[in-house]
Amino acid sequence: MNYLERVGRTRQRMETLGVDVLLATCGPDLTYLTGYEAIPLERLTALVLGRGDDPVLVVPRLEEARVEQRPDVFTVETWNEDEDPVERVAARMRSAQVVAVADHAPARLLLALQGALPRARFIPASLVTSPLRATKDEAEVSLLQAAATAVDVIAEGLRARRLAGRTEREIQRLLVELMLDAGHDRANFAIVATGPNSASPHHESSDRRVNTGDVVLCDFGGTMHSYCSDITRMFVVDAVKPEVQDAYDALSLAQETAFSSATVGTPCQEVDATARDVLARSDVADRFIHRIGHGIGLEAHEDPYLVVGNETRLAPGHSFSIEPGVYFPGRFGLRIEDIVVADVTGPQRLNSAPRDLAVVE
Ligand code: ZN
Ligand code: ZN
Ligand code: ZN
Repeated sequence: MNYLERVGRTRQRMETLGVDVLLATCGPDLTYLTGYEAIPLERLTALVLGRGDDPVLVVPRLEEARVEQRPDVFTVETWNEDEDPVERVAARMRSAQVVAVADHAPARLLLALQGALPRARFIPASLVTSPLRATKDEAEVSLLQAAATAVDVIAEGLRARRLAGRTEREIQRLLVELMLDAGHDRANFAIVATGPNSASPHHESSDRRVNTGDVVLCDFGGTMHSYCSDITRMFVVDAVKPEVQDAYDALSLAQETAFSSATVGTPCQEVDATARDVLARSDVADRFIHRIGHGIGLEAHEDPYLVVGNETRLAPGHSFSIEPGVYFPGRFGLRIEDIVVADVTGPQRLNSAPRDLAVVE
C-alpha cells in the first residue's frame, strides 16, 4: 500500500474542504493512512495529520512495539501512563479552526477536545476520507478478492455437510472456525438463521435444531489482511417447498438483475430500485425490507451505501455488497449476497460460490 500517496490525497481533500487537522483515532481511517491496526483500548491512539505539518502518530508507550514504523509517512510520539494524551494532542492543534475527527472516535475524546479547543469547529473525518476509501485501487481489490475467495470455499463446502439435527449455534461456531482456518484474522459475524428464524434478517443464533424442510440462511464474514469479506448463501434440508422455491427464483433474478445494473455511472439508489422492480413482478417487493447493499473495504459496512436516496454514481473501484432479501414472518426468509466491484469493463463479482438454493442433508 502506498501510504504516502494516501496521506497526500487526504491532504488535498483537507485543502479543498478547508480542514486544518485530521485526527484519526483507532479505526479504519488510521489503518488506511498508516497501515497500523491499533487495539481498541481506552488509551488514546491517534494520527494527527495537519495540513502543513508532518503526520504524527501519538500512541501509548506500551503499544509502540506493535507499530510498524514508516518514517517516510509519519513519526511516532509515545505517551506515558501518567500523562494526559488529550493535552498532548490538543497542543498540536492550537491554531486549528476546523478539525476533522474520526467517526469512530469515542465521545469522551471529542468532548475533551472541544473543552481544550473552544474556538475550533469539529466535523466528521469521513467527509474527508470516505470518498478516498470508497474507491479501491488494484492492491485493495486483490485483498478483497482474497477474502471473498476464502469465504467462497466455505460456502461451497457447506453444500456437502450434514446440517439436519445441528443447532444454529453449532453451525455458527463452525463458520467462525472455518473463517479463521481459511486465513481470516478475525470473524466479524456469522448469522445462522433456520426455518422461521430466517425471516429476521439479523437473527441471533439460537439452540434451535435444523429440521427437514427448513431453510438455512448463512451470512458470514471476517477480516483478512485488514480487508473484509461478507457472503450470504441459502440451504434447504432434504426437500424444497414450492413457495420457498418460487420466492427464491424471484430473489435470484432480482440479485442477478441488480448485479448487472451496477455499472460505472449508475446511481447507487438505482441498483436498489432495479431489484425492487424485479421482486414487484412476483408480488414480493414489500418483503424486501432493507437496502440492497453497503460498501465494503477496511470496514464491513462503509460508503457507498446502495440505498434509496443515495444519488452517488458508481465509480471504478467502488466495492459493495448486492444482497436483496425477502422475509415472511413466521415462515421463512431468503437472502443472496455477493461482493461486487464496479469497473469500466462492467461489474465484477468477487464471490463465485454457487448461488442456487442448495439442497443438503
Ligand atoms: Zn446485514
Ligand atoms: Zn452479509
Ligand atoms: Zn453485507
